[in-house]
Amino acid sequence: MEICELVDKLENTRDLTDSELKFLLEGDYDVEILRSRADIVRQKNYGRDVFVRGLIEFTNYCKNGCYYCGINCNNKDANRYRLSKSEILECADEGYELGFRTYVLQGGEDPYFTDEVLCDIVSSIKSAHPDCVVTLSVGERSRESYEKLYEAGARRYLLRHETASAEHYGKLHPEKMSLDNRMKCLWDLKEIGYQVGSGFMVGSPYQTTECLLEDLRFLQSLSPDMIGIGPFISHEKSVFAQFPNGSVELTLRLISILRLMFPYALIPATTALGTLKADGRELGLKAGANVVMPNLSPTAVRAKYDLYDNKICTGEESAQCVACLGGRVKAAGYEIVVDQGNVKR
Ligand code: SAH
Repeated sequence: MEICELVDKLENTRDLTDSELKFLLEGDYDVEILRSRADIVRQKNYGRDVFVRGLIEFTNYCKNGCYYCGINCNNKDANRYRLSKSEILECADEGYELGFRTYVLQGGEDPYFTDEVLCDIVSSIKSAHPDCVVTLSVGERSRESYEKLYEAGARRYLLRHETASAEHYGKLHPEKMSLDNRMKCLWDLKEIGYQVGSGFMVGSPYQTTECLLEDLRFLQSLSPDMIGIGPFISHEKSVFAQFPNGSVELTLRLISILRLMFPYALIPATTALGTLKADGRELGLKAGANVVMPNLSPTAVRAKYDLYDNKICTGEESAQCVACLGGRVKAAGYEIVVDQGNVKR
């Protein structure tokens, strides 16, 4: 099949066979054909709008030892921090002034943030800013915990599945972690009523094209509202210090494929993409992404939320970060909108 026919088929049926997808991922063709169609589909659904989510990285303590991650529990050189409730609320207030109507509270799996502590923070943000949506991204918790957090007012949850291949999952994580549990969390979150975000790293160690096909198939079954992907970037104090970074090119192809498979989805142009290439996020937007996540964390802790080497946006004030990203979005031909940025199914 010609590349144009393949892209037509993907747009019209939102699906392709494994071998067709494999060709889109690996094949030698004019990628502009894929990219421009993804951009058309994005514009049909969302116009030129780009949604912003204010990212508050509130703790880098973590009980897990994920092999790819810089804040893994075995990194004794990590400079650990956790924000207090009032610091988190200050970030939210500042974000509100800057036009944010949705926050993402992200952190390592930090046992300090029990259900009680976290629910209190969520409900305090909701009472301070009733017109804002609170998104959590704090890893695997019990169903009961997710229920309590929902009752406290959280409505969205980001939990990348990281890889949908159990064998590959085993190569990225210590033995006590399992793909089964991660997936159970995602299904629990969905059943409870959260808008769920999932996703994976591109080019993580031992990833094959077959792994990526499994990722796409899993996403088709989960049908998440948000899909976050970004290139793997090695961290010098992680088990994978010696592995090469993922490919920007492949990440962009995947963003376009995701846009065509999930026309409604909220897809961020991630910080990791901007870290590997100066205009990576702009390219992400042009390839079909429609979300950016400027950093609202206090400047003093930003560099400490050190998931991978050379992470960008660690020096600026929140206002600068927003202004910079706003400029980039505009220069790429899109427009930031001030609202909750809801999914359009
Ligand atoms: N503890 C939370 C948040 C993890 S950090 C959780 O488990 O969901 C958010 C995401 O950053 C992770 O899901 C992972 O996909 C990504 N990430 C971590 N280390 C990375 C690395 N070295 N390169 C690229 N992305 C990474």
